[in-house]
Parts: sequence; structure tokens; C-alpha cells
Amino acid sequence: MIKLNGLEVSKKLREALKQSIATWANENNRPPGLSVILVGEDPASQVYVAHKEKACAQVGIQSEVIKMSGVSTFTEIEARINKLNESPNVDGILVQLPLPKHLDQRKILELISPKKDPDGLTMENIGLFYGGIHRVKSCTPNGVMEILKHYEINVEGKTAVVIGRSQIVGLPMFNLLQQAGATVTLCHSKTKNLQEHTTKADIVVAAAGQPEFLGRNDFKKDAVVIDVGIHRKEVAGKNKLVGDVKYSELDGHVKAATPVPGGVGPMTITMLLQNTFDLACSE
Ligand code: NAD
Repeated sequence: MIKLNGLEVSKKLREALKQSIATWANENNRPPGLSVILVGEDPASQVYVAHKEKACAQVGIQSEVIKMSGVSTFTEIEARINKLNESPNVDGILVQLPLPKHLDQRKILELISPKKDPDGLTMENIGLFYGGIHRVKSCTPNGVMEILKHYEINVEGKTAVVIGRSQIVGLPMFNLLQQAGATVTLCHSKTKNLQEHTTKADIVVAAAGQPEFLGRNDFKKDAVVIDVGIHRKEVAGKNKLVGDVKYSELDGHVKAATPVPGGVGPMTITMLLQNTFDLACSE
């Protein structure tokens, strides 16, 4: 079985990106800029934001984290986003999700200028994405496509099953695979006989958010398995990361699979860096 090593693909893409950014920064007399707004003190969000800051520094993107109180009002956040929308040094604005419950996520996301939206979550960018005229592509699904491209796994004419229909993973994954020429089935929590679908597919993308709920018997021989799930599991008093798939069962049966960790995870931030740079270039 081929291990689809997202960490390695990510490293390669970040190195290339670093070179392009250095040239751009030289020509434009400034680095590309990403501002991250973090509202409240959710511990997981703080970890994700720290990873994003570190990744930006690695490739030469100037990042700033704007920490706002968990009781911030819509108007206060609006004022911060408006300032960033107008700043010539800011190319990307990211609001770390989830937001505290009193805030309307959709209304906050719509405050971001679509031209500065590297997550592609404004309605304008969602529309462009599904219309096939991408300004930016959704980070996690695009990371999956980059892994497939790196390992020369041709998608055209293949059958694919995507498990999960969330706005950030399942749905855009369905869209990118069908745009690439696959015949795609979208499965979700209401799907009956999930195994009937997965065992017929050449490519399975698991994004159900169910720890290790798929195993060897859920895939046909020589399938390609992409595991988007990330879950923390305690094993012998230690925190371990696992996916939606029991990776250890796959060897000798499927053709290729992404491990967790080190599969899709690192690609998501890499695609965020790429999108921020693309937005800087398109000004
Ligand atoms: P979500 O909870 O929003 O969506 C899960 C989807 O899976 C839903 O559409 C639901 O219908 C479907 N589903 C749930 N149980 C199912 C079942 N038993 N059978 C079939 N379908 C089922 O989650 P999400 O935000 O899309 O994230 C999915 C997983 O991916 C989570 O584990 C999340 O942590 C992970 N994730 C990873 C990355 C990354 O960078 N690798 C990025 C985003 C999300």
C-alpha cells in the first residue's frame, strides 16, 4: 500500500511557495499579509491559530492575530474587519471558527471583502467556487486534490464516494472531484447501507467525523482511501490522533491511503497559505 504522505507533499509545496513569495515581496516592497481574528478563548482555536502563524512565518507571509474578547459585539467585530478590508498591507482576513454562540457566523463572514477571503467562505466566493470560476478553492478539499495530483492518481472517469456533506469539507470535496471528471456519490448520516457505496468506489474520501468507523471491509481491493477525520484518542494515558478510518487494517488490500496524522491535516494550512498568496497576486 502506498502511504499518501501529506506532510511531504505539504513540505514540497511550501518550499515552492516560499520562493514565489520572496520574489513577489521583492517586487512589491512588502510581504503578503494575513490577519486572523480570534474571538474568545476556545483552546482548540488557539492551537489552530498558533499553527497558522507558524506556517505563515515559514513561507514569508506577514501574519497578525487580532485577539478579541469573547463578549465582543457584532459592531465591534465589524469595525475591525472594515479596517482590515481597507488596509493595503492585508491580503487575507480569516475569522477563526467557531465563533461564540451570541454571534451570527454567516453575518460576520459576509463582512470580509471577498477579495480578501482566503478560506473562500463569503457567499460571493462560494458562488464562484460552485460555478467553476474559482477565486479560491476550499482549503481541505483542495489539499486532498493536491495529494492526488502529487501521487499521479488520475481522477477522471473514476468512481468516488465522499462521506460527509459539510460546507467546509464534504460538499466542496464533492464539487472538486466532479469538476475533475470523477463520477461522485455523496453519502451522509442519512445514507442507508453506506458500505454498499464505499465498496464499489475507486476513491473514498471519509469526512464523517466518526473515529475509526471504517475498516478494511469497507473498501474494494485497490481503492484509494483519503481520511479527512481528526480525532483525539487516549491510548495508555497518551493523547493520540486518529482518523475516520482504521489505517492499520488497510495494508495489503487498498492501493493507497492517507495516514492520520500526516495525511490531509498539513495540507489544509498549506492551501490557506497558497490562497492568501493568490489573493495578494490578484490585486
Ligand atoms: P461535520 O460534523 O460538519 O460533518 C460531518 C458530516 O458527516 C455530516 O454531513 C454528516 O451527515 C456526515 N456523517 C456523520 N456521521 C455519518 C455516518 N455514520 N455515516 C455517513 N455520514 C456521516 O464535520 P466536518 O467539519 O465536515 O469535519 C469532518 C471531519 O474532518 C472531522 O473529524 C473534522 O475534525 C475533520 N476535519 C479535518 C480537517 C483537516 O484539515 N484534516 C479540516 C476540517 C475538518
